[in-house]
Amino acid sequence: MRVNITLACTECSERNYSTVKNKRNNPERLEMKKYCSRERKMTLHRETK
Ligand SMILES: [Zn+2]
Repeated sequence: MRVNITLACTECSERNYSTVKNKRNNPERLEMKKYCSRERKMTLHRETK
């Protein structure tokens, strides 16, 4: 049930993180506050393919 995903910044679309999520615990698209290295601030990052 674990799948590899990429987290992209919702403001500049930079792909800053890759992680693993459990599809059973998180069937929806994952969103989390992360530090964007391009903008050098905390932004919302969303799961992409
Ligand atoms: Zn950004």
